[in-house]
Amino acid sequence: MKKLSILGSTGSIGVSTLEIVAAHRDRFEVVALTAGNNLELLTKQIKAFSPQLVTVMSEESALKLKKMLPAKQPEIQYGVPGLIAAATAGDADMVVAAIVGAAGLVPTAAAVSAGKDIALANKETLVTAGHLIMRMVKEKGVKLYPVDSEHSAVFQSLQGQRYADVKRIILTASGGPFLNYPLDKLAGVSVADALAHPNWSMGQKITIDSATMMNKGLEVIEARWLFDMPGERIAVNIHPQSIIHSMVEYADGCVIAQLGVPDMKAPIAYALTYPERVTTGVKPLDLTELSGLTFFNPDYVRFPALKLAYRAMADGESTPTVLNAANEVAVEAFLSGRIKFTEIPLAIEKTMDVHQPHSLGSIEEVLSVDRWGREKTRELLGIKKL
Ligand code: NAD
Ligand code: MG
Repeated sequence: MKKLSILGSTGSIGVSTLEIVAAHRDRFEVVALTAGNNLELLTKQIKAFSPQLVTVMSEESALKLKKMLPAKQPEIQYGVPGLIAAATAGDADMVVAAIVGAAGLVPTAAAVSAGKDIALANKETLVTAGHLIMRMVKEKGVKLYPVDSEHSAVFQSLQGQRYADVKRIILTASGGPFLNYPLDKLAGVSVADALAHPNWSMGQKITIDSATMMNKGLEVIEARWLFDMPGERIAVNIHPQSIIHSMVEYADGCVIAQLGVPDMKAPIAYALTYPERVTTGVKPLDLTELSGLTFFNPDYVRFPALKLAYRAMADGESTPTVLNAANEVAVEAFLSGRIKFTEIPLAIEKTMDVHQPHSLGSIEEVLSVDRWGREKTRELLGIKKL
């Protein structure tokens, strides 16, 4: 029995993870769940999976949840201390890090410190503090499995190979909803347009990141740390059908790719059961049903955010943290109707331009740079704290 603690259980990844757990009750037990504000869904999950510990955002939500549950209740905690308690829960063998944004960093770091294996969906953890987290992973001897579909594909394409033989990692990207949208109309797109991803159903923040292609930028940085690969050796290919999830090119010219119907349950299950494979309910891939697979290079005029991520990675340890913080503020500002879609990368660039890159020696320093990035972006956008 593998005992799981699921951080962000009410989100898109959290829900898919629990679907895998429900289909394989003989393999998994849920010991802790954490969620934000969706107490209705959390209540259902508690009834279905009987965790020992549940964490919500605030004391108010904790009291509300207590009233919504029947007599036999799990322990209920709240806030960051509650997230850390769930991430380090004594019983858990593996922590599924599926909170969105830099809010996932502290609990994920706590889980690594406590020696828990990690199924990592929260890419922002590696974007903001990759060098520190990977050092802790090594020191603690924990296993860190990627959940992100591209990184799972790379991980699968590396099985049985030698690191020294790898030439390049090639991440694929769908290009999102605006791949062929008239460039001069991009400033006027609505939130609903940006949330209409052609291939993947995901949480709001990552869906907007996919539309700007900042998501791919964050994934390049994530790959840099996960696979210890310099940025120059990580390429991005636009592949609108999202069938090839990513590839690894080797010294002899051979390329190994992983394919499948786009459904996060496949990479989630692989992270949970590696090196075994279990049924996932994902629709089988029939290549004969497809009209074609296409690939091309990203257009940095259309997708400046991707270029900013490469720039941040080359700049130094603190710049990716600033890039991520600025992106989170700008995406929230777009979602709440305060800025235009095309202002998202502009706001990030302006914040990066006024940042002095420096090294980061601790998670506390990362959090301080994260706060600086958020405040600076708000100031540049002329908006108060959202
Ligand atoms: P989501 O918005 O659907 O869910 C996020 C979860 O985190 C929810 O349970 C929410 O309540 C919780 N949460 C949000 N803010 C929080 C905070 N400040 N403190 C505590 N909990 C908080 O997001 P998602 O789409 O499931 O994505 C989760 C992570 O996985 C992100 O880092 C994303 O980039 C990554 N990811 C997602 C997908 C996908 O298909 N959805 C694919 C690859 C990677
Ligand atoms: Mg991805």
